[in-house]
Amino acid sequence: MKECLRCLQTKHKREFPKSSAHTDGLLPLCRVCRQRQVTAWRKKNKERLKEYRDKYLKDNVEKIRAQQRALYSKNRNRYENYHRKYLQTHPWMKFLGYIDVRCSQKSCASYPRYGGAGIERRISGPELKKLWFSCGAPRMKKPSIDRKDSKDHYTFSNCQFIEHRENMQKANRSRGAKK
Ligand SMILES: [Zn+2]
Repeated sequence: MKECLRCLQTKHKREFPKSSAHTDGLLPLCRVCRQRQVTAWRKKNKERLKEYRDKYLKDNVEKIRAQQRALYSKNRNRYENYHRKYLQTHPWMKFLGYIDVRCSQKSCASYPRYGGAGIERRISGPELKKLWFSCGAPRMKKPSIDRKDSKDHYTFSNCQFIEHRENMQKANRSRGAKK
């Protein structure tokens, strides 16, 4: 048994964190008091901690990226399962990725009408969700994202979900019209 310096309660030695700096190998503060002390210190030094963390992140970009890659490949299956389940319950989020791929491939010959034409994604995940339900996408066979005006960006007002088949017909019509 040992008395805590802070709360003065006598507690079992198990209730004291280990500390090699002290002769009996235990901190003179019980776990409860120690936790309170740490929390108070963090609160008091919030700004400094944030600065320290930001600097660390900035100075170690490569290292952190490598760690994340390692973590990802180690837990690949778990991440992929999680992602798959996430997309099952958030199907509209798939389109965020589709749009980004189309728009980021500026030089890609298969996307001359998207990134190649300077088309950008200016619609967010929550906006896609709104469209998903307002367009009745859950009842569609194969929903696809369509820009009402194909020369305009992916924005909330220019986007709609329509049947994939319909979207293909529309694309063919507009290609035909250009010829
Ligand atoms: Zn205590």
